[in-house]
Amino acid sequence: MSADSKKRVFAFEEGDGKNKHLLGGKGANLCEMTQIGLNVPPGFVLSTEACLEFLASPTKELPPGLWEEVQTQMTALEKKTKKGFGSAEEPLLVSVRSGSAMSMPGMMDTILNLGLNAKTLQGVIKATGDERFAYDAYRRFIQLFGKIALNVDDTFFDKQFEMVKKAAGVKEDVALSASDLKDTAERFLRVVQEQTGRPFPEDPYEQLLIAIKAVFGSWGGKRAVDYRRQFNITPAMANGTAVNICTMVFGNRGDDSGTGVGFTRDPGTGENLLYGEYLVNAQGEDVVAGIRTPKPLVSLKADMPEMAKQLDALRDRLEGHYKEVQDFEFTIERGILYCLQTRNGKMNAVAQVRTSVEMVKEGIITKAQALLRVAPDSLEQMLFPRLDPKAKATPVASGLPASPGAASGIAVFDADRAEMLGKEQGFKVILVREETKPEDIHGFFASEGILTSRGGKTSHAAVVARGMGKCCVAGAEGIHVDVDKRIAIVGDTSFKEGDMITLDGTSGKVYLGEIPTVEPEFTDELVTLLSWADEVARIKVMANSDTPVDAKRALKYGAVGIGLARTERMFNDPARLPIVIDMIVADTKEERQEALDRLLPLQQQDFKSLFEVMAPYPVVIRLLDPPIHEFLPNENTLVREITELQQLAKNAHGLTALGAAMTLMQAPDKVRADVDGLRRQLDPMLVESVIVKKERMLRKVRALFETNPMLGHRGVRLGISFPEIYQMQIRAILEAAAECQAAGVEVHPKIKVPQVCTAQELKIVKKWVDAIHDEIKARTGKPVKFQFGTMIEVVRACMRAETLAEQSEFFSFGTNDLTQAAFSFSREDAENKFLPLYTESEVLQDNPFEVLDEKGVGKLMELAVKWGRSVKPDLLVGICGEHGGHPAAIAFCDKIGLDYVSCSGPRVPVARLAAAHAALHAAK
Ligand code: PEP
Ligand code: MG
Repeated sequence: MSADSKKRVFAFEEGDGKNKHLLGGKGANLCEMTQIGLNVPPGFVLSTEACLEFLASPTKELPPGLWEEVQTQMTALEKKTKKGFGSAEEPLLVSVRSGSAMSMPGMMDTILNLGLNAKTLQGVIKATGDERFAYDAYRRFIQLFGKIALNVDDTFFDKQFEMVKKAAGVKEDVALSASDLKDTAERFLRVVQEQTGRPFPEDPYEQLLIAIKAVFGSWGGKRAVDYRRQFNITPAMANGTAVNICTMVFGNRGDDSGTGVGFTRDPGTGENLLYGEYLVNAQGEDVVAGIRTPKPLVSLKADMPEMAKQLDALRDRLEGHYKEVQDFEFTIERGILYCLQTRNGKMNAVAQVRTSVEMVKEGIITKAQALLRVAPDSLEQMLFPRLDPKAKATPVASGLPASPGAASGIAVFDADRAEMLGKEQGFKVILVREETKPEDIHGFFASEGILTSRGGKTSHAAVVARGMGKCCVAGAEGIHVDVDKRIAIVGDTSFKEGDMITLDGTSGKVYLGEIPTVEPEFTDELVTLLSWADEVARIKVMANSDTPVDAKRALKYGAVGIGLARTERMFNDPARLPIVIDMIVADTKEERQEALDRLLPLQQQDFKSLFEVMAPYPVVIRLLDPPIHEFLPNENTLVREITELQQLAKNAHGLTALGAAMTLMQAPDKVRADVDGLRRQLDPMLVESVIVKKERMLRKVRALFETNPMLGHRGVRLGISFPEIYQMQIRAILEAAAECQAAGVEVHPKIKVPQVCTAQELKIVKKWVDAIHDEIKARTGKPVKFQFGTMIEVVRACMRAETLAEQSEFFSFGTNDLTQAAFSFSREDAENKFLPLYTESEVLQDNPFEVLDEKGVGKLMELAVKWGRSVKPDLLVGICGEHGGHPAAIAFCDKIGLDYVSCSGPRVPVARLAAAHAALHAAK
């Protein structure tokens, strides 16, 4: 080692097992395992820093002093193993493998048996007395080294190997004799000579030097660079690869040898038993290559009882030390067990949750560790059906993964047909629309899943489907939906009404036909883990629910209240939509009031049901938000219907004229009777009156038309324009609460005003609230306990948080609209127009409608919380935009002091665990 350079090569006995950044994951673990006394073959690690220095050198030379360090370690290795590198008597052979801080395909594979040459080969034969074994090792080494370190195409070796097998008349490698393998080795040496123009390097140190350079170089190779880019692996996560040099041990030295892989617990179920497989008399690559079928580890007891005992002990030591389920590799060489590698086991969510709970009960980990080892998002696997991973189907289209889960059903192109086929005829249906509108809600109820070709993750379809726990693929722009022809065109294929399709709302993929699904498992262990989460979480988790059914499900998932009930969903019930339409098309205040009077008892019942389900938890009800034209039919549909009706009216008049002509024509009685019958069935007056109604509706649709309705006449602006609507809703809420209170049901209603931008708006609504409340109080003699507050979803609302706080008892961040407002990105269009390009080309790191933009939107939130609480220190603050169910956003909300998050019901378990993570990280 040169005097000015730091140490770059570490024996397994001396490397810091915690420093994965410096030694790579594999290297650090080999050091750690050695130091806790596990039987690891001796070896050493070249650091990732050495790799970076190598890559920085223009001539791609090892940094000064590094080679000397390697040589010193090799000498030490010779001492430890009592073997010689290049020795003809007891040759030392090593493996060379890469390993960075993050497990990363794309870097160099492992080279085994390095150190073999014509001379050492004789040493191996002498030491083992097994010529076949020696030549087998030799030919494997030449091929691996040739391929990996010298870039010789594998096919040249394979071709030669096939020729040897053919000449020997055998199909399987194991049937080849020592002389066949010797022949193979000689042919392979010739392949290298021909392909590289140079003889295969004989000198073991030259082999080692080439191998080290190849490993270092592979970090900068295209595959590795692409992989890092794809998975956003930054230098802070992994920078450079380490090289691990490890003494070879052989599992193919006879029936007292073997090799295998083990999991300390079953990664599929989490069950506490040793899981894995092994092969007697084999090398590691035989297990992976699938040449022979490995046996399950339970059989080891019969094959090698002493080894089975030692393996059990190894398993306990690994778990006891790492406090995590381990995935390890082992080799048995002539009755001695070696552990070659270990890492944290990758498991599905069911196993992850079960092992967490059981390891706490077994005293291996604490509850906090148990919570932190489960990624909140992974719980989705336990909450929604998934496509069977074994089903290998090719998608025909893809869109945004808007609501998780998977479902198959027949394609149906409008909500009425979905209701008829799904609800009335019992088919499983998938509602396919260009985009959905509030008027499609009955179609949602009747469908297994929703597919749209327009709209983003906060589009109507996405938000409603999530709330209902149904899967949704939104904005699949490759699909052209033709509602009239009842067909969807996808590239050069298509599906029509009645064709079976499958949606995967977790990946956003669309498939033709039915793909099998795997049902979710909400296990007892998950219930336990989430109860521990609630013990440590500070921020509360509520649900966005609008119906008693959704509310019950949210409760089952552990929500402690409803943070957002969108009242427009109640307006869309097919039974009351006609009343809502009457309310909208009303020309006078009286007409409108008449419709509202009919809506009041219905709304009152809606709220009462929600309060009863949720008691004693709070229910936050938002006054009507969307622009009211959304409740009316689409303009084009109306125009088409009116044209058709006008045609029908002409026919009806024609029939009347025909009836009159019958006398003139002295038609026989039977013909007159038939024409009369037809006339009675098609009454022109009835058709005319429908036309009048439709034309009135069309006038209203045109009058209410807005170029940009999301920024238009909606929310509180609508409330102030038509006070009777909000007044009816306020009355319904307070009357329902008063009724519940009188019946002894504990209720905590909160009235929330949407789209507020100035305190003046709140003052106006508050006045109505107070007046209606006073009236109820005077009548019943009892005040209603409730709170009044505002959505914060307009940039100006954040800036005016102090004045808004004076009028509010709570704030609720609507981050869907706030994101739209902060970026000036349309939440309906951006996600399938330019946002994919923006994220792919890294103009933006993430889609802000999905991942809360902490730097911009988050900053606005932080200011609003600070300013709001400066006026009202006990101001209750929550979030109810879609971000409220995302772990990173929950951590942020916890950090800036929000009291609760509210998310779609099925997302509540994810949010509960994320809330616990936030608290645990904050406490660190
Ligand atoms: C929001 O804007 O974040 C919100 C919850 O309201 P909506 O999605 O209904 O506009
Ligand atoms: Mg909103």
